[in-house]
Amino acid sequence: MANVLWLQGGACSGNTMSFLNAEEPTVVDLVTDFGINILWHPSIGLEIGDQVSDLMKDCISGKIQLDILVFEGSIVQGPNGTGTMNYFAERPMMDWFKELAEVSQFVVAVGDCAAFGGIPAVPPNPSESTGLQFLKKDKGGFLGKDFVGKSGLPVINLPGCPAHPDWITQVLVAISTGRAKDILIDNYHRPKTFFTTFTQTGCPNVNNFAQKIDGGFGKRGGCLFYEVGCRGPMTRSSCNNILWNRTNSKTRANHPCLGCTEPGFPHNDLEKGSVLKTMKYLGIFPKDVPTGESHLKYYIRAGWEKVLPVNKTLTESSK
Ligand code: SF4
Ligand code: SF4
Repeated sequence: MANVLWLQGGACSGNTMSFLNAEEPTVVDLVTDFGINILWHPSIGLEIGDQVSDLMKDCISGKIQLDILVFEGSIVQGPNGTGTMNYFAERPMMDWFKELAEVSQFVVAVGDCAAFGGIPAVPPNPSESTGLQFLKKDKGGFLGKDFVGKSGLPVINLPGCPAHPDWITQVLVAISTGRAKDILIDNYHRPKTFFTTFTQTGCPNVNNFAQKIDGGFGKRGGCLFYEVGCRGPMTRSSCNNILWNRTNSKTRANHPCLGCTEPGFPHNDLEKGSVLKTMKYLGIFPKDVPTGESHLKYYIRAGWEKVLPVNKTLTESSK
């Protein structure tokens, strides 16, 4: 049994939509079968007005035990560190969040904005947004690098734009069923279960990647790395193993992976002409190479493979 409070900061509600789309288990299953008691959620909570602020005050005072504080969206600190750009229940949301995080057993950041600042934190960052415990790759964020919840764990980050529903429900279930010790996290506080392999793992275009056969946005067959900016080889996610809607993924549908589970998202900071395009040196060499490869070695090997006179076989996605 776990009491869950879900709040939103600088958010688009995309992670809420993802959560409500959960299938195995559904959100209803979480409540009926997995001991999740949703104290309040902005979209499905019944309480309004003072009822919500009273509930939060009861959590802060300890009258209601707060087991899991889920936060969606960035922490808005603007203008000038006051947080008044994001008011909630007559206070800056960041003030509510800080006091609630201090009494919560677990704090879970859902989505890239809560984890790392995401799109709101792109320079010049007018809302002074940050993630809960990271600002992009830098540890610290709003709560500071030493923050741990009452359970002893730091913020658990479930990045993604949005996070996959299974990533959210599995972590909530692990906590509510007393298996929180199974949640092993990486350097960016992401559960290793979901964020050890790369988006590329399970992508039907890997043969094309290896053979250096170009694909194109929305075009069947070919790899999206060389021209349209696919970040599958640099992005840790399980998107091609735990499929979306149990059916598909971006790269299976021939849309490049945007790297939304990495702290650098949005990569190239949404500069004009940088979206769905491979950034290159000298118009030839991809600026970003697969994680773990040295640039020079990759360029030599890939250049050789690209011009190799072998029979290349185009593989098409079945989706
Ligand atoms: S489409 Fe993307 S994820 Fe798939 S093989 Fe190419 S680079 Fe990797
Ligand atoms: S495929 Fe890439 S951009 Fe899409 S959800 Fe997965 S990690 Fe994010």
